Amino acid sequence: MKKLFVKTYGCQMNAYDSAKMADLLAPLGYAATDAPDGADMVILNTCHIRERAAEKVYSELGRLKNLKAEKALSGGRMLLAVAGCVAQAEGAEIVARQPAVDLVVGPQSYHRLPEMIARAARDQGHALETDFPALEKFDSLPAPTASGVSAFLTVQEGCDKFCTFCVVPYTRGSEQSRPPEAILREAQQLAAKGAREIVLLGQNVNAYSAEGWSLAKLCGALADIEGIDRIRYTTSHPRDMADDLIAAHADNPKLMPYLHLPVQSGSDAVLEAMNRQHTADDYRRLVARVRKARPDIALTSDFITGFPGESDADFEATLQLVRDIGYATAFSFKYSKRPGTPASTLRKQVPEDVKAARLDALQKLLLQQQHAFDDSQIGRTVAVLFEKPARDNGQLMGRTPYLQPVHVHADAALIGQVGQVRIQRRTANSLHGVVV
Ligand code: SAM
Ligand code: SF4
Repeated sequence: MKKLFVKTYGCQMNAYDSAKMADLLAPLGYAATDAPDGADMVILNTCHIRERAAEKVYSELGRLKNLKAEKALSGGRMLLAVAGCVAQAEGAEIVARQPAVDLVVGPQSYHRLPEMIARAARDQGHALETDFPALEKFDSLPAPTASGVSAFLTVQEGCDKFCTFCVVPYTRGSEQSRPPEAILREAQQLAAKGAREIVLLGQNVNAYSAEGWSLAKLCGALADIEGIDRIRYTTSHPRDMADDLIAAHADNPKLMPYLHLPVQSGSDAVLEAMNRQHTADDYRRLVARVRKARPDIALTSDFITGFPGESDADFEATLQLVRDIGYATAFSFKYSKRPGTPASTLRKQVPEDVKAARLDALQKLLLQQQHAFDDSQIGRTVAVLFEKPARDNGQLMGRTPYLQPVHVHADAALIGQVGQVRIQRRTANSLHGVVV
């Protein structure tokens, strides 16, 4: 057996891709290992969203170069691959800056890894693939070899929205949806391997559209698969929240009451400069419609503070939107310039200390809301899907319908089952209770 180490950065779509790369390489004799030392192949599955993402990858590659040299001294060869969005954005520059890299493969071409490995082994040279044949990729991926209780399933890739701060349309390409039959087949395979929850993934998952199928129709068909108890989807764009999807939250009991619906800002001027193509009030009205369909739905969002030109009043509008909506939890980031995006060249950049102070104020408010939401479960009995042993001995980790982690002393036989748990208390990031 050859040892394969995959390091995953960034979003859930990368986590899905990493698992698929491991599945692809299994027939070539590669088995996953949890450290890079002595590995026969190391893949960095990179993310380009955060600040200085490429620089961090180069410094990691510097460390791996030494491990590769050690392996060569003992007569072996470590193949070094860079995958994901940094690979797509940097391309051949990666090999120019770090010649120890053997393979550079973009997020839409990693199905070609086996042939790239053969090429690199044959001529000891480098192989580079950064095309966008997304649907060809899905056609060539193997069936999942394993599944956790909760499994990711990518249904849609890429983005045509071109928010002015974001690199995704450039690194993942244009919006593409997989055919429904392929998705349903993969869901059946995952269910057969033990998945009880399917999390549908896409950069714009609610823009899913293929052969007359919408995301709502897909969720309906998934609900009919034996073994699947829970369905989730992420990430949604407010502009693509169709009526049938809102209705599905009322009508499809397996669709969980949880919606990640990033708004980024509560200021109309900033939303316009971001090219989000909706106003803060459009978002408020949308949330009202979703809550009418499913009153207990947990809402979450992404926010950016300090987008170029954001004034104190703009930021206050964001805080007001947060107060109006009431989130279960949320992710928030300081704006950071991404090379090649329109916002990076805007002149009115916000000073770093202002961005940081706004982020701090926003996160305090969001944390209060998160704790209030979690506290509202105390004393209630909720359905928890048990996923795995918790770090504490004898405890299991599961999730409520609202995606809150719950820790319970319970028999490991409950893993993969939904149990009723009475919630007793909350710690910083999770709930605790007893099985009833
Ligand atoms: N498609 C999703 C949407 O439209 O909301 C978001 C996908 S993006 C990978 C995840 C989050 O990263 C965004 O919602 C945004 O908040 C954040 N993000 C993206 N570019 C950023 C930037 N240049 N600076 C700070 N945060 C950024
Ligand atoms: Fe990026 Fe906007 Fe597309 Fe989301 S919708 S992936 S933020 S461009």
